[in-house]
Amino acid sequence: MDIVKLLQVLAGEPQFRIKQAKQALGRDLIDDWQEAKTLPEPLRRRLNQECPIALDSSFFVGRDSLKARLRLADGLSVETVLIKHRDGRQTACLSSQVGCALGCAFCATGGLGFKINLTAGEILDQALLLARHLKKTRQGKISQVVLMGMGEPLLNYEAVKTALKWLNDKDMFGLGWRHMSLSTAGIVPAIKTFSKDFPQVNLAVSLHAPTDELRSQLMPINRRYNLQQLFKVVDAHIKATSRQVMFEYTLLKGVNDSPAQARALAKLMDKPLYVLNLIYYNPTGAFHPSERQVFDDFYLTLKKAGIKVTKRFSPGQDIAAACGQLIGRPFA
Ligand code: SAH
Ligand code: SF4
Repeated sequence: MDIVKLLQVLAGEPQFRIKQAKQALGRDLIDDWQEAKTLPEPLRRRLNQECPIALDSSFFVGRDSLKARLRLADGLSVETVLIKHRDGRQTACLSSQVGCALGCAFCATGGLGFKINLTAGEILDQALLLARHLKKTRQGKISQVVLMGMGEPLLNYEAVKTALKWLNDKDMFGLGWRHMSLSTAGIVPAIKTFSKDFPQVNLAVSLHAPTDELRSQLMPINRRYNLQQLFKVVDAHIKATSRQVMFEYTLLKGVNDSPAQARALAKLMDKPLYVLNLIYYNPTGAFHPSERQVFDDFYLTLKKAGIKVTKRFSPGQDIAAACGQLIGRPFA
C-alpha cells in the first residue's frame, strides 16, 4: 500500500475520512476498498484505482509458524513470519529491507547484499497481510510485532518510524508500544535517535561475540561501531527509558561457544537491565550449530553468574522461516 498516495487522495476529503480509512484498514482488515462501507462509493472507487490494497502473496504453513511472501512493485519479494507461541500469543516478524548491506557471516539475508529499502506501506502491509489471514482463518490476532525479519531496520529508519506509528495508531492497528520490538546489529547514532523517538518500544541488539576481534569477523559493522560505543549508547538508552535491553547471541560451533567466551560474556552482561537471549543457529551454510550439551553448558555458566538469560529455539526451520533464513525467493 502506498501511504503517501492514500494521504494525498484523502487530503481532498473531510478530515474524518482519514480515521474511517484507517479503521477499515487496520481494524476491519479489509482487502478491497469496496468493503469500507463508511466511505462513499466514489471515494472507494478512487482509492481502489489510486492506492489499491490487495496484496500479491503466497503462504507457507509450518508446524509452529506461518511464512508469507509478498511481491513488491518491482518484481522483488519480501518475507514475513508469524510465530505461534505455546501460550497462544502470536508474533509477527516483519522485514524492513530486501537483503542487507551489513553482511554478517552467519545470516542468509546478509549473503544477498543490499537490494532495497521497503516503504512504510510495505512494512505495514506485512502486518496487515498476516492479520487478514488470521482473521479469515479464525486464528486470532497478532499480539506482538518484532522488526527482526530481513534487513537492518535502523538503516531504513524513516520508513520504520512511520510504520511503527501507524501500527500504534488507535484508529489503525492499535498495537501498544510495549508490544513492539526492534532488533539492530548496532547502528550507534540511529540507536540514539530511536531511543528518543520510541522510548517504550523494546530494543534488541545483536551481539554474537564477547570481543571486538571476533565480533568484527562475524559482524563487519563492529569495525565502524565497536563494543564500547555500542554499550555506551545502550546504557544511555536504559538510563533515559528504564527499559531492559535484550542482547541476542547466536551460538556457532567452535566459534563463539567456549566456556571462556561464556565467562567473558557474563562479565559484559552483568548490568541490571541487560537480558541475554541465546539463539540456536539455524544453518545457512557458513557455520554449524553448537552441540546441545555445549549450548546448555554455555547457558548454565551465564545463569550461574547471575545473568538474566533465556534460550531461543527459533521456530519455522521446516519452512525456512527461522532467524537468519529469510532470503525472499522470487515467486515461481
Ligand atoms: N538486522 C537486525 C534484525 C534482523 S536479524 C539484526 O541483525 O539485529 C534477527 C536476529 O537473528 C539477529 O540477532 C540476527 O543476528 C539473528 N540471526 C541471523 N542469522 C541467523 C541464523 N542463521 N541463525 C540464528 N540467528 C540468526
Ligand atoms: Fe543484516 Fe541483521 Fe542479517 Fe546482519 S544479522 S546481515 S544486520 S539482517
